[in-house]
Amino acid sequence: MDTNNIEAIVREILAGIKGGSNAPSSKVGAGAPDKARVAMLVEKERFELQEHKIPEIGDDDILVKVEGCGVCGTDAHEFKNDPFGLIPVVLGHEGTGEIVKMGKNVVKDSAGKPLAVGDKVVTCMIFADEPEITMYDLNKQNVGKADVYGLLPDDDVKFNGWFADYIVIRKGSTVFNVSDLDLDSRILIEPCAVLIHAVERAKTTGILRFNSRVVVQGCGPIGLICIAVLRTMGIENIVAVDGNEQRLNFAKRMGAEKSVDFRNHKGADALGKAVADAFGGHYADFAFQCTGNPVAHANIYKMIRRGGGLCELGFFINGGDATINPHFDLCSKEITLVGSWVYTLRDYATTFDFLKRAQAIGLPLKELITHKFPLEEINEALKTNLAMKGLKIAIVNK
Ligand SMILES: [Zn+2]
Repeated sequence: MDTNNIEAIVREILAGIKGGSNAPSSKVGAGAPDKARVAMLVEKERFELQEHKIPEIGDDDILVKVEGCGVCGTDAHEFKNDPFGLIPVVLGHEGTGEIVKMGKNVVKDSAGKPLAVGDKVVTCMIFADEPEITMYDLNKQNVGKADVYGLLPDDDVKFNGWFADYIVIRKGSTVFNVSDLDLDSRILIEPCAVLIHAVERAKTTGILRFNSRVVVQGCGPIGLICIAVLRTMGIENIVAVDGNEQRLNFAKRMGAEKSVDFRNHKGADALGKAVADAFGGHYADFAFQCTGNPVAHANIYKMIRRGGGLCELGFFINGGDATINPHFDLCSKEITLVGSWVYTLRDYATTFDFLKRAQAIGLPLKELITHKFPLEEINEALKTNLAMKGLKIAIVNK
């Protein structure tokens, strides 16, 4: 314990003696300071580190000391162009940290697990005003009135996003106790939940089976995690498609049996044939489209057998129109197509178990985090993401 912590404890105790109305009713851990830093996006492409007073923690609130937060494509878009019109804003929604203080009414997380000071938690990015995202979710009532931390407009609280030293989790939020996962795994929960959901969507077709031949197109973080999820389900016959040798090699380490570099094949039919060759002369039973490129969407139909299935999950945001031939690509082949976007709360909870299993079977999931920056270098972290360097970029607090 350092002197800062001791000072903070003394301050807490003094506040209690002086009759601070909040202090006796809340559970307090070591070292919650009066003030802390947030990275405020004050204009396009510029975060400013600002120090603000940590507000009083109400009976239903939780104060979390941030340990780390992944940089998401959504953060990068907001950083560069402010498409959501949020500036000034504290971004960061893929965050995790330790509870240092909580109101007396807080006893359980959104899955019913007990919560205590010292526990490690994550919040969940579910839009309270988008019920169609959560309508198939048995736990939807847990969403409450919470919004998305890291995309909340700035207000008096200030500690609204995970790109900060602390975050205030307000009443009604979706919060999970993930104390049994290490920091890197916790930073990867949010992107992994996207894939858990996609595979759940794929399973609804009835085509994805234990011994299916599965093609995964696009070996960025999403495609690589897709391969990992399939491997943890026991699916081994996986072909990865990408145009980057390094990523294709990583795909193999993540569990793909074979890989196809699309740069070596001219035209969609030739690419489809190359995938079939990789499966020993068979087209794929099922395909996951994990790029945001409309041409890639059009190409993937050529890789799938008659009666096969496709899950399109690459277009997290609008990437433009794709041209397919509805007769040859869909009807005459009787392809079953599902789209996938974001996740449900149930998928989020499933993700915790996926991460443990991936680790248990030795998948190099944590190597997805290729860059770690301290909060002071957040501008550089976002620029690294925009430059498409590395795979997953994270802010990690000391
Ligand atoms: Zn995200």
